[in-house]
Amino acid sequence: HVDLNAKMDYVFKVVLIGDSAVGKSQLLARFTKNEFSVDSKATIGVEFQTKTMVIDQKMVKAQIWDTAGQERYRAVTSAYYRGAVGAMLVYDMTKRQSFDHMTRWLEELRGHADKNIVIMLIGNKCDLASLRAVPVEDAQEFAERENLCFMETSALEATNVENAFLTALTEIYRIIS
Ligand code: GDP
Ligand code: MG
Repeated sequence: HVDLNAKMDYVFKVVLIGDSAVGKSQLLARFTKNEFSVDSKATIGVEFQTKTMVIDQKMVKAQIWDTAGQERYRAVTSAYYRGAVGAMLVYDMTKRQSFDHMTRWLEELRGHADKNIVIMLIGNKCDLASLRAVPVEDAQEFAERENLCFMETSALEATNVENAFLTALTEIYRIIS
């Protein structure tokens, strides 16, 4: 029996939050497995995926949690947030409402999570540029006001996905180490 954790310097729990259908599960699949599926089923059961990487010559395991299709406001339990050192706050840049809901998700997150949690605002589906409903300036302004990192991504085209997770994880590492 080989204990793979033995060589791990850090394990970082990161939670994905945001409205249903914004692409949380596909971002996770893209980052951890470099996969994307067009007809992804709604996530069932609390699930996480892990990905190990090297940051500053240390072995870091990212344990990324995906909601159990409980994206209804306040349906995500406090156990989901427990121990999280990072959060990816995801909206769909073609759905204005999913961006407007970021305020509530942030409130919920701040109510449950550690105050030093690193939060990355993500505008997903940037491949659908012609359907954009959220100007990049609106998101930047919100991110600045709330002190969040911000990036637009496409899980479909693998744009900025690795970059977004790595930026968040590096920031977490910087705070924790
Ligand atoms: P979740 O409910 O937030 O986990 O959303 P899913 O990951 O299940 O994705 C919801 C839908 O959006 C699925 O049909 C995905 O194929 C689609 N989707 C996810 N990410 C992208 C993306 O980057 N671009 C496009 N065009 N579609 C996406
Ligand atoms: Mg999902």
